Amino acid sequence: MSYEIGFDLLIPGQYIKQALAVSLLSVWVLVGLFFYLNHYTRRRYFTIWAAAWMFYALWLTLNLALGHEDAAPWMTMVKQWCISATALFLFWGGLRFLGQRVRQSLAALFFGFLFVWSYYGAYQLENALQIRLPIFGLIAVASLRVGYCFLAYRRRRPYVGAGLLAVGFGLWGLYHVGFPFLYYQPELFGAAFLIATVLQLFIAVSMIVLVLEEARHTHHLAFLNLSKQAEEAQELRSKVSATEERYRKLFENAGQPIIIARPDDLTIQEVNQAAARLLGAGAPQELCGRSLLHFCPGQPPPGMTAAEWLCTLHPLQLRRLNQELAPVEVSATPVEYDGHPAVQLFLHELTERAQLEQQLRQTEKLAALGQMISGIAHELNNPLAVVKGYLELVLQHRELAPDVRADLEKVAQESNRAAKLVQNFLAFARERPPQRELVNLNEVAQRVLELRKFAVRVAGVQVQTRLDPDLPVTLADADQIQQVLVILINNAVQAMSGRDRPGLLKVATRHAEGKVLVEVEDNGPGVPPHLETRIFEPFFTTKQVGAGTGLGLSIALSIVSEHNGRLYHARPGPEGARFVVELPVKTAPVSEAPKPPPTPPAAAPAAADLNLKILVLDDEPTITEMVSEMLSLLGCRTVGCTVPAHALELLRKQHFDLILSDIRMPEMDGRQFYAAVRQEHPSLAGRILFLTGDTVNEETRAFLKSVGNHHLGKPFQLEALRRAILEIVGQHPPAPA
Ligand code: ADP
Repeated sequence: MSYEIGFDLLIPGQYIKQALAVSLLSVWVLVGLFFYLNHYTRRRYFTIWAAAWMFYALWLTLNLALGHEDAAPWMTMVKQWCISATALFLFWGGLRFLGQRVRQSLAALFFGFLFVWSYYGAYQLENALQIRLPIFGLIAVASLRVGYCFLAYRRRRPYVGAGLLAVGFGLWGLYHVGFPFLYYQPELFGAAFLIATVLQLFIAVSMIVLVLEEARHTHHLAFLNLSKQAEEAQELRSKVSATEERYRKLFENAGQPIIIARPDDLTIQEVNQAAARLLGAGAPQELCGRSLLHFCPGQPPPGMTAAEWLCTLHPLQLRRLNQELAPVEVSATPVEYDGHPAVQLFLHELTERAQLEQQLRQTEKLAALGQMISGIAHELNNPLAVVKGYLELVLQHRELAPDVRADLEKVAQESNRAAKLVQNFLAFARERPPQRELVNLNEVAQRVLELRKFAVRVAGVQVQTRLDPDLPVTLADADQIQQVLVILINNAVQAMSGRDRPGLLKVATRHAEGKVLVEVEDNGPGVPPHLETRIFEPFFTTKQVGAGTGLGLSIALSIVSEHNGRLYHARPGPEGARFVVELPVKTAPVSEAPKPPPTPPAAAPAAADLNLKILVLDDEPTITEMVSEMLSLLGCRTVGCTVPAHALELLRKQHFDLILSDIRMPEMDGRQFYAAVRQEHPSLAGRILFLTGDTVNEETRAFLKSVGNHHLGKPFQLEALRRAILEIVGQHPPAPA
């Protein structure tokens, strides 16, 4: 029989052993490979398969040593048992490969069965095919089963190696199906062993391919995983650095002083701008490395950490770098800094808080004071009106001795000043709108110096004036500016009094860059630098109780500010003080000329020429009386009345040419009285001259504006009264009686 398939398959009998040896060698290659793979990949089924290949190698070795022909039954039994063990381990490894667990007791039981079967086959069965067929059938099925496993694996994963192994194990299974029949053709054994060798090497190579592919895939996965992790780590890093940046900005720019320090000795590790400022350092870096305890009074008591101790101090008097004390309160929280425990200290500056509280109190006080001043000013207006009115009446008497007249004129001047003071108080209480006109500040300055001449002389102060002859006019309330200069000159005189050297008061005016300036300078002790910012505060005074109220400069400042100007202190030299009033220049339109200086109050009015019958209504009898006297001096006949209802009654019974009425009255005020008069005597409504100390009140002003009647602010002068009456009479000629 010829087995020519391009080459001769028959290997002579003496070479069968060599073929067997080659096959055995290839099996050992497989055993080694599977052991190594198990070691490398840590997969259990490789060990189990390695055991299968070992049994197969044993079978081959037995064949090699004892010949594969029929031999003694025990030998047949051992060989069968080796083959069946190979099949068993192949099966077992296959199941593990598919992820199915096989109980070891079951495997052992099956192993025992195969042993019994091998024994039975070798000793009981006559026909060798009957013995071998089931055993080799078993190994063929196991091999095909493993081939199937790899095929399934190939379907799940794109590994060529798995496909090759499926083919390899499939062919090896088929090989064992045919192997028992070779005993009928022993001359084919050599070729069969060679084929087995090729298949076993094929399986080995396929296994290497598969493992390499798996390794490459795993490596790729690991790489992907790593790069994903790297991306995530990068993202996390940027998030962390963004958070750190945010925290740093918060820390550095926080308005509250914050310090991070070591917990034991409070060595400063980080400090923000606010804390650096508080401790008097130029920059935060200057403080790093120094202990906060250097800025604190004393040391922490035993048993207490430094941070705990600081938190117990209320307040903690921090000594700043310039040795000034700063009272603070401290709160602390433990933190981690550069991987080490640290403590974060929050400092609450009490000075600032105290100052805010103080400011709040001051504002409340000022508001209350404003109301009080306004009330007092109103109340002062009436007695002042009476004093001024009677003074004027007295001064009308021509037979007064000249020295008495001179004294009375001084009283009149000072009562005028008092009246203006009251007006300024009202302005300070924000109730009096400034009455602006074009003013020459030279004239105002001269008037003030004239007014204060006596006081300045008594204080032994020499006065030097340097008034700019070309000083432009400014739009201002002359009385208010006068009040400012009075305050500045009074302060200067007070500052210079009691000094060793003679006092020198310099008053100068000049103009520059669209501004007119008045400077009041003295050679007194000057304003200490640390008080420069405080002297304009209301109620701030360094004078003794009773000597100063601390209101002068704040009133002056508020007046100048209302004029869109500036009032400031300029240091003239090492000693002395210079206060500068700066007002904007206002060029006079052609039609407007600076106000002529006021006529002296003593000028006698053209008396006894009015011959009018006038009803005088004021709830204060002294005012009614005084006004009546003034009117009689003007040649008027008057009827005085203190109750509006009586006045209405009188109006019904008698004829009056004019009515002089107060506005603020109890029961029925001036407005209601006006309404009643308008209703009952419409022709008289326009001839009511209102007298009021209340012209600065918004409601009063609105009323006067709406009715358009003439009015006189208390205190007023005889001449003003006469002019107002003449104007009313001119506009509303008296109706026939
Ligand atoms: P008062 O005069 O009632 O104290 P002021 O507001 O007018 O109130 O002044 C506030 C403070 O400013 C004074 O107490 C004084 O300390 C200071 N001051 C004002 N003018 C001068 C000056 N010419 N020289 C020195 N100090 C002055």
